[in-house]
Amino acid sequence: MTPDPAMRGTAVQPTQPAPDPRPGTPVDGVDVLGSLSPSRAGDFLACPLLYRFRTIDRLPEPFSPDAVRGTVVHKILEDLFDLPAARRTPAQAGAMVQPAWETVLAEDPEIAEMFGPEGPEVGAWLASCHESLARYFALEDPTRLEPAERELYVETLLDSKLLLRGFIDRVDVAPSGQIRVVDYKTGKAPHEAFEAKALFQMKFYALVLWRTRGVVPAMLQLVYLGSGEILRYCPEERDLLATERKVEAIWKAISRAQETGDWRPNRSALCGWCPHQSICPAFGGTPPPLPVPRVAASAPVGQKVVSGSLVPGPATGSKVSATSSGVTS
Ligand code: SF4
Repeated sequence: MTPDPAMRGTAVQPTQPAPDPRPGTPVDGVDVLGSLSPSRAGDFLACPLLYRFRTIDRLPEPFSPDAVRGTVVHKILEDLFDLPAARRTPAQAGAMVQPAWETVLAEDPEIAEMFGPEGPEVGAWLASCHESLARYFALEDPTRLEPAERELYVETLLDSKLLLRGFIDRVDVAPSGQIRVVDYKTGKAPHEAFEAKALFQMKFYALVLWRTRGVVPAMLQLVYLGSGEILRYCPEERDLLATERKVEAIWKAISRAQETGDWRPNRSALCGWCPHQSICPAFGGTPPPLPVPRVAASAPVGQKVVSGSLVPGPATGSKVSATSSGVTS
Protein backbone atom coordinates (compact mmCIF):
# COMPACT_ATOMS: atom_id res chain seq x y z
CA MET A 1 0.00 0.00 0.00
CA THR A 2 1.27 3.44 -0.85
CA PRO A 3 1.99 5.86 1.98
CA ASP A 4 0.19 9.15 1.71
CA PRO A 5 2.71 12.05 1.82
CA ALA A 6 0.05 14.20 3.47
CA MET A 7 0.37 12.01 6.54
CA ARG A 8 3.95 12.95 7.31
CA GLY A 9 3.10 16.41 8.47
CA THR A 10 0.89 14.92 11.10
CA ALA A 11 3.81 13.42 12.93
CA VAL A 12 5.40 16.83 13.30
CA GLN A 13 2.58 19.32 13.68
CA PRO A 14 -0.30 20.49 11.57
CA THR A 15 0.45 22.66 8.58
CA GLN A 16 -1.86 23.96 5.90
CA PRO A 17 -4.14 22.41 4.78
CA ALA A 18 -4.99 20.40 7.84
CA PRO A 19 -3.21 17.05 7.87
CA ASP A 20 -5.33 14.13 6.93
CA PRO A 21 -4.44 10.47 6.96
CA ARG A 22 -7.01 9.99 4.20
CA PRO A 23 -8.51 6.91 5.79
CA GLY A 24 -9.19 4.31 3.23
CA THR A 25 -7.15 5.80 0.41
CA PRO A 26 -4.58 3.03 0.02
CA VAL A 27 -7.03 0.17 -0.03
CA ASP A 28 -5.39 -1.45 -3.08
CA GLY A 29 -8.10 -4.04 -3.25
CA VAL A 30 -7.86 -4.90 0.42
CA ASP A 31 -11.21 -4.82 2.14
CA VAL A 32 -10.31 -2.51 5.00
CA LEU A 33 -12.69 -1.08 7.55
CA GLY A 34 -10.85 2.24 7.61
CA SER A 35 -7.51 3.58 8.69
CA LEU A 36 -6.16 5.42 11.67
CA SER A 37 -2.91 7.22 12.45
CA PRO A 38 -1.81 8.13 15.98
CA SER A 39 -2.28 11.82 15.24
CA ARG A 40 -5.87 11.45 14.15
CA ALA A 41 -6.62 9.04 17.00
CA GLY A 42 -5.15 11.65 19.34
CA ASP A 43 -7.35 14.32 17.78
CA PHE A 44 -10.46 12.26 18.43
CA LEU A 45 -9.48 11.51 22.00
CA ALA A 46 -8.82 15.19 22.64
CA CYS A 47 -11.93 16.49 20.89
CA PRO A 48 -14.26 14.65 18.47
CA LEU A 49 -15.18 17.95 16.81
CA LEU A 50 -11.52 18.74 16.16
CA TYR A 51 -11.20 15.30 14.51
CA ARG A 52 -14.20 16.13 12.35
CA PHE A 53 -12.78 19.52 11.30
CA ARG A 54 -9.44 17.98 10.37
CA THR A 55 -10.45 14.64 8.90
CA ILE A 56 -14.01 14.99 7.61
CA ASP A 57 -14.22 18.71 6.71
CA ARG A 58 -10.49 18.91 6.05
CA LEU A 59 -10.49 22.57 6.99
CA PRO A 60 -7.28 24.47 6.31
CA GLU A 61 -5.27 25.58 9.31
CA PRO A 62 -2.87 28.49 9.53
CA PHE A 63 0.82 27.76 9.71
CA SER A 64 2.25 27.97 13.17
CA PRO A 65 5.85 28.89 14.00
CA ASP A 66 6.07 25.93 16.40
CA ALA A 67 4.81 23.47 13.78
CA VAL A 68 7.12 24.74 11.05
CA ARG A 69 10.07 24.69 13.45
CA GLY A 70 9.21 21.04 14.03
CA THR A 71 9.26 20.37 10.30
CA VAL A 72 12.63 22.10 9.82
CA VAL A 73 14.28 20.43 12.82
CA HIS A 74 12.94 16.98 11.85
CA LYS A 75 14.34 17.44 8.37
CA ILE A 76 17.78 18.35 9.72
CA LEU A 77 17.81 15.40 12.13
CA GLU A 78 16.86 13.09 9.27
CA ASP A 79 19.43 14.49 6.83
CA LEU A 80 22.18 14.58 9.45
CA PHE A 81 22.37 10.79 9.39
CA ASP A 82 23.07 10.84 5.65
CA LEU A 83 26.49 12.22 6.53
CA PRO A 84 29.47 10.16 7.71
CA ALA A 85 29.38 9.80 11.49
CA ALA A 86 32.31 12.12 12.11
CA ARG A 87 30.54 15.00 10.35
CA ARG A 88 27.38 14.84 12.49
CA THR A 89 28.47 17.74 14.63
CA PRO A 90 26.57 20.65 16.21
CA ALA A 91 28.29 23.03 13.76
CA GLN A 92 27.18 20.92 10.81
CA ALA A 93 23.59 20.76 12.08
CA GLY A 94 23.64 24.53 12.61
CA ALA A 95 24.83 25.04 9.05
CA MET A 96 21.87 22.98 7.83
CA VAL A 97 19.23 25.26 9.39
CA GLN A 98 19.11 27.92 6.68
CA PRO A 99 19.04 25.45 3.73
CA ALA A 100 16.39 23.32 5.46
CA TRP A 101 14.28 26.41 6.11
CA GLU A 102 14.62 27.50 2.48
CA THR A 103 13.59 24.04 1.27
CA VAL A 104 10.50 24.02 3.49
CA LEU A 105 9.64 27.56 2.40
CA ALA A 106 10.09 26.73 -1.28
CA GLU A 107 7.64 23.87 -0.93
CA ASP A 108 5.03 26.22 0.50
CA PRO A 109 5.83 29.94 0.15
CA GLU A 110 2.69 30.86 2.14
CA ILE A 111 4.59 29.80 5.27
CA ALA A 112 6.29 33.22 5.12
CA GLU A 113 2.97 34.78 6.14
CA MET A 114 3.38 33.53 9.70
CA PHE A 115 6.15 36.12 10.11
CA GLY A 116 3.82 39.07 9.95
CA PRO A 117 3.35 42.00 12.30
CA GLU A 118 1.60 39.62 14.71
CA GLY A 119 4.06 36.77 14.29
CA PRO A 120 7.66 36.28 15.38
CA GLU A 121 10.62 37.88 13.67
CA VAL A 122 12.22 35.37 11.31
CA GLY A 123 15.71 35.79 12.78
CA ALA A 124 14.49 35.00 16.29
CA TRP A 125 12.53 32.05 14.95
CA LEU A 126 15.60 30.65 13.15
CA ALA A 127 17.52 31.08 16.40
CA SER A 128 14.89 28.91 18.10
CA CYS A 129 15.61 26.17 15.52
CA HIS A 130 19.29 26.37 16.47
CA GLU A 131 18.35 26.11 20.16
CA SER A 132 16.32 22.95 19.51
CA LEU A 133 19.29 21.39 17.74
CA ALA A 134 21.65 22.40 20.55
CA ARG A 135 19.38 20.59 23.01
CA TYR A 136 19.43 17.54 20.74
CA PHE A 137 23.21 17.36 20.92
CA ALA A 138 23.05 17.65 24.70
CA LEU A 139 20.84 14.55 24.75
CA GLU A 140 22.33 12.32 22.07
CA ASP A 141 25.61 11.90 20.24
CA PRO A 142 24.70 11.16 16.62
CA THR A 143 28.31 10.23 15.81
CA ARG A 144 27.71 7.07 17.87
CA LEU A 145 24.39 6.15 16.28
CA GLU A 146 23.58 4.36 13.04
CA PRO A 147 19.80 4.34 12.73
CA ALA A 148 18.31 1.37 10.93
CA GLU A 149 15.48 3.49 9.57
CA ARG A 150 14.49 7.15 9.41
CA GLU A 151 11.09 8.58 8.51
CA LEU A 152 9.84 5.03 8.28
CA TYR A 153 6.33 4.52 6.94
CA VAL A 154 4.62 1.67 8.76
CA GLU A 155 1.22 0.09 8.47
CA THR A 156 -0.56 -3.03 9.58
CA LEU A 157 -4.03 -4.41 9.13
CA LEU A 158 -5.60 -5.61 12.35
CA ASP A 159 -7.80 -8.70 12.44
CA SER A 160 -10.77 -6.34 12.57
CA LYS A 161 -9.63 -4.95 9.15
CA LEU A 162 -8.72 -1.60 10.68
CA LEU A 163 -5.56 -0.29 9.03
CA LEU A 164 -3.07 1.35 11.37
CA ARG A 165 -0.40 3.52 9.83
CA GLY A 166 2.03 6.31 10.45
CA PHE A 167 5.61 7.54 10.11
CA ILE A 168 8.29 6.79 12.69
CA ASP A 169 11.08 9.36 13.04
CA ARG A 170 13.81 6.84 13.74
CA VAL A 171 14.22 3.12 14.38
CA ASP A 172 17.43 1.85 15.95
CA VAL A 173 18.22 -1.86 15.89
CA ALA A 174 20.89 -3.27 18.21
CA PRO A 175 23.16 -6.14 17.10
CA SER A 176 21.05 -8.32 19.40
CA GLY A 177 18.00 -7.48 17.29
CA GLN A 178 16.41 -5.28 19.96
CA ILE A 179 14.43 -2.41 18.50
CA ARG A 180 14.29 1.15 19.81
CA VAL A 181 11.60 3.47 18.44
CA VAL A 182 12.56 7.16 18.59
CA ASP A 183 10.39 10.20 18.08
CA TYR A 184 11.55 13.83 18.23
CA LYS A 185 9.31 16.47 19.76
CA THR A 186 10.22 20.13 19.48
CA GLY A 187 7.96 20.97 22.41
CA LYS A 188 8.56 20.43 26.11
CA ALA A 189 8.23 17.14 27.95
CA PRO A 190 4.77 16.68 29.45
CA HIS A 191 4.04 16.72 33.15
CA GLU A 192 4.18 13.23 34.67
CA ALA A 193 0.40 13.11 34.77
CA PHE A 194 0.27 13.40 30.97
CA GLU A 195 3.08 11.00 30.09
CA ALA A 196 0.67 8.18 29.30
CA LYS A 197 -1.00 10.36 26.70
CA ALA A 198 2.36 11.14 25.13
CA LEU A 199 3.29 7.46 25.07
CA PHE A 200 0.11 6.43 23.26
CA GLN A 201 1.61 7.44 19.91
CA MET A 202 4.74 5.40 20.65
CA LYS A 203 2.77 2.33 21.74
CA PHE A 204 0.76 2.68 18.54
CA TYR A 205 3.99 2.50 16.50
CA ALA A 206 5.26 -0.35 18.66
CA LEU A 207 2.04 -2.25 18.01
CA VAL A 208 2.45 -1.79 14.24
CA LEU A 209 6.09 -2.95 14.37
CA TRP A 210 5.18 -5.92 16.54
CA ARG A 211 2.46 -6.94 14.10
CA THR A 212 4.71 -6.53 11.06
CA ARG A 213 8.03 -7.79 12.42
CA GLY A 214 6.94 -10.12 15.18
CA VAL A 215 9.16 -8.38 17.73
CA VAL A 216 8.00 -6.19 20.60
CA PRO A 217 10.26 -3.10 20.53
CA ALA A 218 12.52 -3.08 23.56
CA MET A 219 12.30 0.67 24.07
CA LEU A 220 10.16 3.64 23.12
CA GLN A 221 12.00 6.94 23.35
CA LEU A 222 10.55 10.44 23.10
CA VAL A 223 13.20 13.12 22.69
CA TYR A 224 11.87 16.51 23.81
CA LEU A 225 13.93 19.26 22.24
CA GLY A 226 11.93 22.04 23.87
CA SER A 227 13.02 21.13 27.38
CA GLY A 228 16.01 18.88 26.72
CA GLU A 229 14.50 15.74 28.23
CA ILE A 230 14.04 12.13 27.17
CA LEU A 231 11.05 10.00 28.07
CA ARG A 232 11.73 6.28 27.81
CA TYR A 233 9.39 3.34 28.16
CA CYS A 234 9.96 -0.38 27.77
CA PRO A 235 6.70 -1.89 26.51
CA GLU A 236 5.47 -5.38 27.15
CA GLU A 237 3.21 -7.50 25.01
CA ARG A 238 0.25 -6.74 27.27
CA ASP A 239 0.80 -2.97 26.75
CA LEU A 240 0.51 -3.43 23.03
CA LEU A 241 -2.54 -5.67 23.33
CA ALA A 242 -4.14 -2.93 25.44
CA THR A 243 -3.17 -0.37 22.81
CA GLU A 244 -4.79 -2.52 20.14
CA ARG A 245 -8.02 -2.65 22.16
CA LYS A 246 -7.85 1.09 22.61
CA VAL A 247 -7.43 1.93 18.91
CA GLU A 248 -10.29 -0.45 18.06
CA ALA A 249 -12.46 1.35 20.61
CA ILE A 250 -11.46 4.74 19.20
CA TRP A 251 -12.41 3.57 15.73
CA LYS A 252 -15.78 2.35 16.97
CA ALA A 253 -16.41 5.69 18.63
CA ILE A 254 -15.44 7.48 15.39
CA SER A 255 -17.82 5.19 13.52
CA ARG A 256 -20.64 6.05 15.91
CA ALA A 257 -19.99 9.77 15.47
CA GLN A 258 -19.97 9.29 11.70
CA GLU A 259 -23.29 7.48 11.79
CA THR A 260 -25.00 9.93 14.12
CA GLY A 261 -23.28 13.15 13.02
CA ASP A 262 -22.64 13.80 16.71
CA TRP A 263 -19.13 15.28 16.73
CA ARG A 264 -19.04 16.80 20.18
CA PRO A 265 -16.68 19.58 21.16
CA ASN A 266 -14.58 18.78 24.18
CA ARG A 267 -13.42 22.00 25.76
CA SER A 268 -9.95 21.74 27.29
CA ALA A 269 -6.60 23.47 27.51
CA LEU A 270 -6.07 22.38 23.90
CA CYS A 271 -8.68 24.93 22.79
CA GLY A 272 -6.09 27.66 23.29
CA TRP A 273 -4.19 26.26 20.29
CA CYS A 274 -7.21 25.26 18.22
CA PRO A 275 -7.57 27.28 15.00
CA HIS A 276 -11.28 26.46 14.77
CA GLN A 277 -12.60 28.27 17.84
CA SER A 278 -14.64 30.71 15.74
CA ILE A 279 -16.79 27.87 14.36
CA CYS A 280 -16.88 25.81 17.55
CA PRO A 281 -20.16 25.67 19.53
CA ALA A 282 -18.16 25.58 22.77
CA PHE A 283 -17.14 29.16 21.92
CA GLY A 284 -20.47 30.31 20.48
CA GLY A 285 -19.61 29.41 16.88
CA THR A 286 -21.45 27.29 14.33
CA PRO A 287 -19.70 24.49 12.44
CA PRO A 288 -20.18 24.34 8.68
CA PRO A 289 -22.60 21.71 7.35
CA LEU A 290 -21.02 18.30 7.08
CA PRO A 291 -19.68 17.59 3.59
CA VAL A 292 -22.24 15.91 1.35
CA PRO A 293 -21.56 12.17 1.21
CA ARG A 294 -20.21 11.06 -2.12
CA VAL A 295 -20.30 7.35 -2.92
CA ALA A 296 -17.35 6.39 -5.07
CA ALA A 297 -18.02 4.06 -7.95
CA SER A 298 -14.62 2.42 -7.45
CA ALA A 299 -15.15 1.52 -3.82
CA PRO A 300 -14.62 -2.14 -3.05
CA VAL A 301 -17.69 -4.27 -2.61
CA GLY A 302 -19.39 -3.61 0.68
CA GLN A 303 -17.46 -0.40 1.20
CA LYS A 304 -18.56 3.18 0.70
CA VAL A 305 -16.32 6.19 0.23
CA VAL A 306 -17.53 9.49 1.57
CA SER A 307 -15.76 12.71 0.64
CA GLY A 308 -12.71 10.71 -0.29
CA SER A 309 -12.68 8.81 2.97
CA LEU A 310 -13.93 5.42 3.91
CA VAL A 311 -17.09 5.52 5.90
CA PRO A 312 -16.45 3.71 9.15
CA GLY A 313 -18.36 0.48 9.26
CA PRO A 314 -21.25 -0.15 11.59
CA ALA A 315 -20.24 0.14 15.21
CA THR A 316 -20.23 -3.07 17.14
CA GLY A 317 -20.17 -3.48 20.88
CA SER A 318 -17.21 -1.81 22.46
CA LYS A 319 -15.62 -3.27 25.54
CA VAL A 320 -14.27 0.13 26.52
CA SER A 321 -16.17 2.34 28.92
CA ALA A 322 -17.72 5.48 27.51
CA THR A 323 -16.77 9.12 28.06
CA SER A 324 -17.80 12.25 26.18
CA SER A 325 -15.82 11.04 23.17
CA GLY A 326 -16.95 7.47 23.65
CA VAL A 327 -13.50 6.23 24.64
CA THR A 328 -11.50 6.28 27.81
CA SER A 329 -8.11 7.80 27.27
S1 SF4 B 1 -12.03 24.94 20.19
FE1 SF4 B 1 -11.74 23.25 21.64
S2 SF4 B 1 -13.73 22.23 21.76
FE2 SF4 B 1 -13.74 23.53 19.92
S3 SF4 B 1 -13.10 22.19 18.23
FE3 SF4 B 1 -11.27 23.22 18.99
S4 SF4 B 1 -10.42 21.77 20.51
FE4 SF4 B 1 -12.55 21.19 20.16
